[in-house]
Amino acid sequence: MKNSDHMERCSFCGREKKDTNLLISGISGYICDHCIEQAYGIMKEELKGKSNLNMNKIELMKPTKIKEFLDQYVIGQEEAKKYISVAVYNHYKRLTQPSTHDDVEIEKSNIIMVGETGTGKTLLARTIAKMLHVPFTIVDATVLTEAGYVGEDIESLLTRLLQAADYDVAAAEKGIVFIDEIDKIARKGDNPSITRDVSGEGVQQGLLKLLEGSVVNVPPQGGRKHPEQKMIPVDTKNILFICGGAFDGIEKKIANRLNTQVVGFGASKNREMIDKNNLLQYIAPQDLKSYGLIPEIIGRLPVLTYLHPLDRTALRRILTEPKNAIIKQYTKLFEMDGIELVFQKEVLDYIVDKAVEFKLGARGLRSICETIMTDAMFHTPGSKRKKLTITLKYAKEKLEGVNLQKLKIA
Ligand code: ADP
Repeated sequence: MKNSDHMERCSFCGREKKDTNLLISGISGYICDHCIEQAYGIMKEELKGKSNLNMNKIELMKPTKIKEFLDQYVIGQEEAKKYISVAVYNHYKRLTQPSTHDDVEIEKSNIIMVGETGTGKTLLARTIAKMLHVPFTIVDATVLTEAGYVGEDIESLLTRLLQAADYDVAAAEKGIVFIDEIDKIARKGDNPSITRDVSGEGVQQGLLKLLEGSVVNVPPQGGRKHPEQKMIPVDTKNILFICGGAFDGIEKKIANRLNTQVVGFGASKNREMIDKNNLLQYIAPQDLKSYGLIPEIIGRLPVLTYLHPLDRTALRRILTEPKNAIIKQYTKLFEMDGIELVFQKEVLDYIVDKAVEFKLGARGLRSICETIMTDAMFHTPGSKRKKLTITLKYAKEKLEGVNLQKLKIA
């Protein structure tokens, strides 16, 4: 269709160019911003019910493939990656399963990961969500309280998932929620330093409802400030919950159970075989119970796995190997300015040395790199330089006098 009068107007609604904010031309017509918006609305509405289509794609991904994907982003943590791959595979298999007529009902495989902070728990959950293209949200268990107390209602956790899904309820109902610091809502028990007015147990009871799968009325804006808001019912039956926590001191509970002590010699042969430096590998559901999680919660988190503390070798690999490794990111940033950035090998070892020395963990690697690189990132773009080599001397100069201890908080 061609406008004979050469008037530029929208081929859909006929608006003249001057009546639009934007008029985009195609091969033989035009479309205005109003019509684009309207068409987008129709498309979204139409596709809503079809999000099941993605599920078929998900099912095709076998556990070994899932792990391969995780390997690209997460260094080490082989056991955790294996457990998670299987759990996620089974979870989405369960979702795609047509409603069965037999009695076998596959239960949800919610996951709980135990491991020091900064060892990759959040990264694992985030990477899984990225792979599946499902809505994902992270919530900190410490902000959750029982209804009626200061803090966030348990339901707020689903508000965030809804927001991540752009309020597409069907998509949110297949999403992933990562609950961080789950250990902080453990029953305080014999711990004398009770500072919170809310017992963890109440929160655990509240959480139970979500984990086991039920229809929950979710305030779309969250919080209690909008009592008039219309609640959105969300079914949590197919939402995958991944919990993570450091569970400080759980080794003692494991040791007690194994009837051995962290320090000292075991007399029996059996005890000798226990690797006392890495007790976490023996973690079992009972240990979570001794730590203060209620049995019902533990029952709803059937996949229990652990993460290793990161050693020197792992930190060194994290610096350069993952798909979006820190060093790769800097190289790319400079490349965008037409500058070739090179790190001397000794610099990378030095960065790891410092992270180990100050016990900064993987998170510290970035802070150290930032400290070394800030000046270069400030001065180099706009200069005539085409290549920048970061030498050990330069790195040391930049870190000298910096209170690395401070980076720990960062
Ligand atoms: P956690 O949730 O266990 O406290 P995170 O997953 O948030 O720790 O890790 C913090 C950051 O450290 C991540 O964003 C990532 O850059 C890095 N990191 C930690 N562990 C790993 C790992 N195993 N492989 C790659 N990067 C890691």
